[in-house]
Amino acid sequence: MPQTARQWLEHIRALELPERVRIMNVCGGHERSITMAGLRGALPDNLELIPGPGCPVCVCPEEDVYTAIQLALREQVTLVAFGDMLRVPVNVPKSEARSLDQARARGGDVRPIASPTEAVRIAEADPQRPVVFFAAGFETTTAPVAGMVAEGIPDNLSILLSGRLTWPAVAMLLDSEAPGFDALVAPGHVATVMGPEEWEFVTERHHIPAAVAGFSPDSLLAATYSVLRQLQEERPFLDNCYPELVRPGGNPAAKSCLEQTMRVGDATWRGIGTIPDSGFHLRPEYAAHDARVLFPGYADEGRKRAGEMPPGCDCARVVLGKLYPTDCRLYGKACTPRNPVGPCMVSDEGACRIWWSAGARP
Ligand code: SF4
Repeated sequence: MPQTARQWLEHIRALELPERVRIMNVCGGHERSITMAGLRGALPDNLELIPGPGCPVCVCPEEDVYTAIQLALREQVTLVAFGDMLRVPVNVPKSEARSLDQARARGGDVRPIASPTEAVRIAEADPQRPVVFFAAGFETTTAPVAGMVAEGIPDNLSILLSGRLTWPAVAMLLDSEAPGFDALVAPGHVATVMGPEEWEFVTERHHIPAAVAGFSPDSLLAATYSVLRQLQEERPFLDNCYPELVRPGGNPAAKSCLEQTMRVGDATWRGIGTIPDSGFHLRPEYAAHDARVLFPGYADEGRKRAGEMPPGCDCARVVLGKLYPTDCRLYGKACTPRNPVGPCMVSDEGACRIWWSAGARP
């Protein structure tokens, strides 16, 4: 069995491959490792590695970002969010705050945090002041939020939850007429939490090869080799190429916290629309900590903005793997990390930002 990235590359090059093979990944961490390690250039030309829906900040609906901005500006609350979310722009007239960063510049008490425990600490430090935690993320980020809520949180802390499940977006693509990929590299961190079994539908229902990968080039190449062999042998099965951390059943404690505090239901993805059973929602028992219940007017106002994208922004197509970042006509021109037009150029997990950081120019 190969051990190093170089050995895996040799094994891949030795395979007889079809004219074109498109392999999608659904994890910003995977896309970052692939791009930064230069794996695209090292692999045979007929292999395409396509970044898919792997950036939670990119798919967070405009309505939720807008709601968070309005809460920060119009209510006497402290708004806390993971750092990336602060720069995500919404499509409003220039006279209004376009991001949480701009809301802060206009006097809103907006603070970046790195973990849910920081939100608790900020709420405990000033028990009289409402604190709203804008919690956007996939399963890996939402599970610690669920753990925090399950443990019990201060009375003055509420959650504006925008948690998403990864696999329904892939299911939606696979159910469409043109999924756009021939094999899938499944996300290692998500599988660590939820279990690799979530991805079995890819091989069993759609007969598309799939392998769970870690984040090092050798793990990603092992998964690439696995799906190529599956294609060659016409024998798709879900391969676990990240056994060090991904175990059958996932993390029972994390899943139990998610189950206790949240239910799964339909959810909006920015620029994409509603995907069935793809969102985490706080259970009614936790209504006292649900910002959508505590500030209903804002949520309703925000909902009118469902799905809006900035004019000319192709983020939704980039997120769905229909377009490479450099194919967006704004890439590197109107849209750069300094002046991002869409969320894919903001987040460290966004494909546009990753490609730009690696030096890809239009
Ligand atoms: Fe969106 Fe900017 Fe990327 Fe275009 S270059 S898809 S506008 S983030």
